[in-house]
Amino acid sequence: MSAREKALVEDLAVDASGGVVVLGWRAAEDGLFLRIRGQPDEARLRCRCGRCHWIVREQFSEPGPRLLVSCHNCGVRSTFLMEGVSLPAP
Ligand SMILES: [Zn+2]
Repeated sequence: MSAREKALVEDLAVDASGGVVVLGWRAAEDGLFLRIRGQPDEARLRCRCGRCHWIVREQFSEPGPRLLVSCHNCGVRSTFLMEGVSLPAP
């Protein structure tokens, strides 16, 4: 990603992230970036403690795939629904 694109990234506070549907994610040096349904740009997930680094786990189970995140620093957890993410081969 170019520096110009990076400048467009906005932080998403974990406490304000309820109901967000994640289309994709990537972990980068400066934090965890989410592609969110209905938003043209990626958002960086920010914790209550101010850090943006998360331990990420994808969970494929009913009622749909989910993204489980927990803060590297303080352990705060959150869960997001995922959409358009392919299931692992059976
Ligand atoms: Zn934290």
